[in-house]
Amino acid sequence: MRQPLLELKEAGREFTTGEQSFAALKGINLSICAGEMVAVVGASGSGKSTLMNILGCLDRLSTGRYLINGRDTGTLDSNALAELRREHFGFIFQRYHLLPHLDALQNTEIPAVYSGMDKLKRRARSAALLTSLGLADRCHHLPGQLSGGQQQRVSIARSLMNGGAVILADEPTGALDSKSGQEMMKILHQLHDAGHTIILVTHDLSLADHAERIIEICDGIIFKDHANPKRPLNPPRPSLIREGANTEGTEHFSARPPLTRGDRGVAAWGRFAEAFTMALKAMTSHRLRTFLTMLGIIIGITSVVSIVALGEGTREKVINDISSMGTNVIDIYPGKDWGDEKSGSIQTLTREDLEALQAQVYVDSITPGIYTNLLIRSNNITVNASVGGVSEQYFRVRGVEMAQGSAFLPDHIRRQAQVVIIDENTRKKLFATSENPLGTVILLGSLPCQIVGVSKDKEGPFASNQNLNVWVPYTAAMSRLFGQHHFTSITVRVRDTMSNQIAEASIVKLLTRRHGTKDFYTNSSDTILKTVNSTTDTLTLLISSVAVISLIVGGIGVMNIMLVSVTERAHEIGIRMAVGARQSDILQQFLIEAVLVCLIGGSIGILLAFGLGKIFALFFTIITIKLSLMSLVVAFFCSSAIGVLFGFIPARNAARLDPVDALARE
Ligand code: ADP
Ligand code: MG
Repeated sequence: MRQPLLELKEAGREFTTGEQSFAALKGINLSICAGEMVAVVGASGSGKSTLMNILGCLDRLSTGRYLINGRDTGTLDSNALAELRREHFGFIFQRYHLLPHLDALQNTEIPAVYSGMDKLKRRARSAALLTSLGLADRCHHLPGQLSGGQQQRVSIARSLMNGGAVILADEPTGALDSKSGQEMMKILHQLHDAGHTIILVTHDLSLADHAERIIEICDGIIFKDHANPKRPLNPPRPSLIREGANTEGTEHFSARPPLTRGDRGVAAWGRFAEAFTMALKAMTSHRLRTFLTMLGIIIGITSVVSIVALGEGTREKVINDISSMGTNVIDIYPGKDWGDEKSGSIQTLTREDLEALQAQVYVDSITPGIYTNLLIRSNNITVNASVGGVSEQYFRVRGVEMAQGSAFLPDHIRRQAQVVIIDENTRKKLFATSENPLGTVILLGSLPCQIVGVSKDKEGPFASNQNLNVWVPYTAAMSRLFGQHHFTSITVRVRDTMSNQIAEASIVKLLTRRHGTKDFYTNSSDTILKTVNSTTDTLTLLISSVAVISLIVGGIGVMNIMLVSVTERAHEIGIRMAVGARQSDILQQFLIEAVLVCLIGGSIGILLAFGLGKIFALFFTIITIKLSLMSLVVAFFCSSAIGVLFGFIPARNAARLDPVDALARE
C-alpha cells in the first residue's frame, strides 16, 4: 500500500453559532494517495465543502488529525498553512472567485506573487497556462468580460500557477452550462493524466462517474468509499496541457530548494510592489471615497503646516521688530525698581557715570536721557511734544534713522548747541509736506533751536506713532531747559558680540561701586525678547495642539473608512488567502493603502498650505507665513505616522480574517 498523501483520522469539524454547535464533519477517516482522482458526492449541506476546506488547509479541524505526507497539520501555524495552499494546493470554486479588478493574466499570477516568483517568469508562465487553456486572446480581459466557462478556466490556470499538485474543485461545474461543464471535466481529466491529484466535490452523480474513486458523504459521515467500476484506472490519454504549463506540479510535495537571501529580498520586494499596486488599484477604483478619506488628512496637514508656518513667521517678525528697536539695549533708571516712589529724588545718575560706562569694552554706544513735555512753536503753530535730552549716540542706541538731515555731532553736545531733531509726526504737525524744515528755528518752550534733522518713522508694532518726539543735545537740555545735573536714565547698547547678561551684571557692579549702593535698576530688552519667544512658543503649542486634534480626527476618519473597506473587501482577502497569501501580505497591503492615503493627503495638504501662504501674503503684509523645511518634514512624518497608526487596526483585522469566512462573504 502506498503512503497516503492526504490522511484524515477521526476528523471532526464543529461550527458554533451562538449557543448552538453543529457538527459538519463527524469522525471522518479518509486517505487519498498521490495521483488519485476522487469524487466526493453528497446532498447539499452534507459537509462536502467543509471537507474540501479542511483538505485544502483553508480550515482547521475541531477534533481528530489531518496529515499531509505524514505531517500533522495541527501543529502548523497560519504561515505554514498559507505556504501549503500556495505551493501545493490549487482551488477551483463553483463561483470562480477571481478578483474583479484584475485581468485574466494578473488573476492567474497571484499565487506566484506570494511565492516570490520573478515578475517576468510569472508573466510568461501565466500567459503559457492561459494559452494552453485556450485563453490566449483573453489574457487582458477582466473577469466581468469573460464567460463563466472562461472564468473557470482562468481559475484553473491560477490553481496551476505554483504547480497545484492537488487540485481541489468544489462544484466546479455548478455555475456552468453543460457544454462548459463537459469542457471543465475534460481539463480535470487531463490534469489527472498529467499526474495531478484531483479531488472533485459535487452533488451530481453523473459528474462523479468521471472519477476513479467515489466517496459518498451524508450528514458529515462517509458512508460509502468505493472504486468506480465504470472507469478503468489511469487510462492512457494524450496530454492537453502543453509546453509552459509543464507538469512540475506533479512532484507531490517535494520540497522546493530554499530561497537564497538575495532571492528572498527580491521576493519580498515583489510582494511589496504587488501590495503597492493593489493599494493604488483599490484607491483608484473608489475615487470619491478615497478623496473623502483623504479630506480629513488634507485639512489636518494644511492646518498643521500653515499654523506652524504662521507661528514661525510671526515670531520672526516680532523678533525683527524688537531687534530693530535694539535687542541688546540695557536701560538704567534711578530707584529700586519700576514705580519706586523715591526714584524722582535720586540724583545719582551723572555725567561721570556716563563716562565710566562709555569706557567699558562691551558698550557699543550709550546715551543719557532726560525728558519732559514742552510746548513747541513754529509758524504760529503750537503743539505739545516730548522733549528728550540725549547724546549724539542716541540714534544708534535706539536704531533710529534720519529721513532728512543728520544726527547730532559730538560738537553739538560739547557746545550745548541749540539744535533739535524732530520726528516725522512733529514735522507733519508743524510743516507742510512740501516745506523743508531743515534750518528752521522752532521754540521749545522759550528756547529757540534750529532743526538739524528729521527722524524716520520706525515701522512695526512697537513704534509709537502717535506721540510727538523731539530731541536736543542733553548738555543743552540740562543747562538751558531743565537746570538739573543728573539724568533720568542711561541707555547702553551692548556690542553684538557680547552677552547682554554679562554686560548687565557688569554695569550693575560698576555703578554700585561708584554709588556705594544699588540705587538704580536695569532693564534689558533681552528679557522682552525672551518673553516674546516664550509667548509665541506657548501660542504655537496651543494652536498646534488644535491642529494635532484635527489630524487625529482625520486619522480616525481613515481608520473608519479602512474598517469599512476591509469588511467590503473580505471576499478579496479570502481569495488571496486561499491562493496562499500570508497574513503579513494582507496586513502589508492594507497598511500601504492607509499610509498612501495619508501621504497623498499630506502632500495635497502641504501644497494647499503653500498656496494659502502665498495668497495670505498678498493680502496681509503684517503677518508673514514662513514655510520651513522642518514643517514639511513634520507634515510628512505626521501623515505617515497617522497612516500606520490608524491603518494598523483595520489592516490587522483584515489579516486576521478567517479564510473560509472571508471567502463566503460576497
Ligand atoms: P455542502 O455539502 O453543501 O458543501 P457544507 O460543507 O457547506 O455543505 O456545510 C455542511 C453543514 O455545515 C451545513 O449544514 C452548513 O449549514 C454547516 N456550515 C457550514 N459552514 C458553516 C459555518 N461557517 N457556520 C455554521 N455552520 C456551517
Ligand atoms: Mg458546498
